[in-house]
Amino acid sequence: MSQLVQYDAEHCFHPFSNYHDLNNKGARMIERAEGIYVYDENGHEMLDAMSGLWCTNLGYSCEPLVEAATEQLKKLPYYNLFFQTTHPPAAKLSKLLAEITPEGLNHVFFTGSGSECNDTVIRMVRYYWSTLGKEDKRTIISRKNAYHGSTIAGASLGGMSAMHKQTAGVVPDIVHIDQPYGFGECEDGDLQAFGLERARQLEAKILELGEDKVAAFIAEPIQGAGGVIIPPESYWPEIQRICDKYEILLVIDEVICGFGRTGEWFASETYNIRPDLLCMAKGITSGYLPLGGVMVRDNVADVLISANSEFAHGFTYSGHPAACAVAIANINEMQSRNIIAELKETIAPYFAEKWQELSEHPLVGEARVKGMVAAIELVSDKTTNTRYKKELEVGMKCRDNCIKSGLIMRAVGDTMIVSPPLIITKKEIDLLIERAKKALDTTLDSL
Ligand code: PMP
Repeated sequence: MSQLVQYDAEHCFHPFSNYHDLNNKGARMIERAEGIYVYDENGHEMLDAMSGLWCTNLGYSCEPLVEAATEQLKKLPYYNLFFQTTHPPAAKLSKLLAEITPEGLNHVFFTGSGSECNDTVIRMVRYYWSTLGKEDKRTIISRKNAYHGSTIAGASLGGMSAMHKQTAGVVPDIVHIDQPYGFGECEDGDLQAFGLERARQLEAKILELGEDKVAAFIAEPIQGAGGVIIPPESYWPEIQRICDKYEILLVIDEVICGFGRTGEWFASETYNIRPDLLCMAKGITSGYLPLGGVMVRDNVADVLISANSEFAHGFTYSGHPAACAVAIANINEMQSRNIIAELKETIAPYFAEKWQELSEHPLVGEARVKGMVAAIELVSDKTTNTRYKKELEVGMKCRDNCIKSGLIMRAVGDTMIVSPPLIITKKEIDLLIERAKKALDTTLDSL
């Protein structure tokens, strides 16, 4: 263990970690990055197929983002949006976001992260309904295995049971329905019927609770941290129908999917969803600086404005000038380099084709992909899709073997997931697949 790793083990508590295990073996020290590769302190190269934490969409060497931050830090390193003030980066970025987000979303509330977006959502949704005199419309419906952040409110909205267990007293009036996880939970193989059944659980829940009690439904277009759960095509149109039929706000958490991940600016476009609130973070700055935002549909914004009272909510870093400057540069870069069109026409189809090759591997029960987000399911018997015993920690083994073979791929149980940078080239996709196959072979040999 190097001295720095030692310092880290002795003094740093890491997110979502078992401190006993981690401190004994020491964390991997990532020292530098270039393009889509990161390097540890021993110079070991790893193709970062997770884009950091689903965020470095333009890779690690995007000079205009660095320049934008530097310039802004020199000019106005900090100011806030409280007390009736603003600054040029926040004003410019709000206008730009209104232009690139789906039609009808013309106001933004800036936050510092995805979790803060979802805290904002809870407040905003309740403020909206109470302004309309519907104080009882308080319950938010979410989904099991959803991830909406790690603050108490984010974790409460999320459907991760391990997080709920450690959060004695989760935020009240949040309930969860089942997720549209075809591979794991569809028994008869009829995915479209399964998608409809899962969507209709929303209707059943609204009817059970009473329409006058339900404020909103929140969901990720594709569940990311839950294991890249790509819903059947039947799912979203039915959810939209239900939200339209009952007076329920639709909150779409695009913290992962926003900014090109699914081949459009927003997955709401990919799935033809009409969000009332849309959460974004991560890809908004390609992860170079922390920033998030909640976009608000005009009819909701009108009510918030008509309230004519103070919305008692905000963060020190809401609309941080350097973060906003980076976001503007990030969007400009995506536009001027035509990244999304290129992705949709060339890179994403190529990635899908290559990713599907992994389904031929004896360890893989399913390979699924949408745009630039993908998963494989590791199984002991691919004719029956039987899982390995949990204690074998096959996913973790595979993740470690990926790292050895020079690839960062994440394990969610025995589901392996990736979310490569949007600037990945065909050649780099070949390398990603080659390293993934190598890691799968090594994992299989070890079992
Ligand atoms: N929502 C979704 C869909 C996410 O994936 C995440 C983070 N992975 C969050 C919210 C929370 O974002 P943050 O970690 O920036 O608070």
